[in-house]
Amino acid sequence: MKPEQFTKFKKLLQRVQQQSPFYQNKFKEAGFDIDNVQKPEDIVHIPFTTKEELREAYPLNIQAVPDEEVVRIHSSSGTTGKPIIIPYTVTDVNTWAEMMSRCMTVAGLTAKDRIQITPGYGLWTAGIGFQAGVEKLGAMAIPMGPGNTEKQLQMMIDLQSTALCATSSYALLLAEEIRKRGLKNDIKLKKAILGSERWGDKMRARIKDELGVELYDIYGLTEIYGPGISISCDANNGLHYWDDYLLFEIINPQTGAPVAEGEYGELVITTLTKEGAPLLRYRTRDITRLLTGECSCGLNHPRHDLILGRSDDMVKVKGVNIYPGQVEDVLKHIEGISSEYQIVLDRDEDAKDTMLLRFEQQVGFDAANLETRVRKYFKTKVGLTINTEALTIGQLPRSEKKTARVIDNRYN
Ligand code: ZN
Repeated sequence: MKPEQFTKFKKLLQRVQQQSPFYQNKFKEAGFDIDNVQKPEDIVHIPFTTKEELREAYPLNIQAVPDEEVVRIHSSSGTTGKPIIIPYTVTDVNTWAEMMSRCMTVAGLTAKDRIQITPGYGLWTAGIGFQAGVEKLGAMAIPMGPGNTEKQLQMMIDLQSTALCATSSYALLLAEEIRKRGLKNDIKLKKAILGSERWGDKMRARIKDELGVELYDIYGLTEIYGPGISISCDANNGLHYWDDYLLFEIINPQTGAPVAEGEYGELVITTLTKEGAPLLRYRTRDITRLLTGECSCGLNHPRHDLILGRSDDMVKVKGVNIYPGQVEDVLKHIEGISSEYQIVLDRDEDAKDTMLLRFEQQVGFDAANLETRVRKYFKTKVGLTINTEALTIGQLPRSEKKTARVIDNRYN
């Protein structure tokens, strides 16, 4: 942690202790005293804040300022149970716009750009977050919102949009429409900023080629402002995040302990300067790692890696935590393998864990050779010895859910 981050952290602790009933209760219940945080390492004693707690705080029990200071709320789209509502002050709204406009600058956008915004507006944070960033940058916002592909394409051509903000799936849909209609020469897009869902290299290549743009991954979550808290740069090696506003930690999702430098784990975020709903050590459930060293792009903000998946998807094999995203990462680096896979966990006669990784090979590749390469590469990247089995294309069941790819026979 940088000294200036720790200074902000201590101020934040004092602020929530004085103004946030949510944290006052939380500290009391945990028997935590803010005076025990004297040096950066002490923050590990601060209890985590979880998604469940924010749901229970519905509607506004998380609010840490008087009503007259709240200018807006946003809400996460809760698929289960109550949604989470986050109140924002003027400062919060401005901070978010600042982070988003920095993201756009990293993507090479300037006041001269015309930026077509296709994520939704409203309770959700995406559309309005992009909008505020574009305005702060001084560029032209084209606030389309989602859907209505006909109109999207018409505006894209007539207004000569130079940049697109979208989910990767919507960008792909637009790209395919543009190809089908033969409009490629009519569009002027140079850049696309896409929500950081995990998406394969093939999908990425298709969007890039069909639209003829450079792609940037943007990350964020409603609980922490919204999209715009980090973005990939031209070096395409991780996402830079804004450490003057946010503190990132990576923890072991099972023990809560900090992981060793550069290791994968769950991302935990503290909002150093947020007012409306400040969060201390918020567990995002997103799995990533912090990247060390300087980025070749020269930007002086630290980086995290792409989001590998959700901490809920983790399996533990021989004491090693494995995320489906890591498996995908290994497979995509080896030529001749499709993106489908299956993990079978079992126990051998000595009651030791075994892992079999099944994958599909493309036509014209040697199965035994691929099996050896995957085994070796997995050992190098993940640190685990596994068994591998190459199948022909179509042999594995297709599923959207990552968890369905893991068959755990160890407790049968
Ligand atoms: Zn960079």
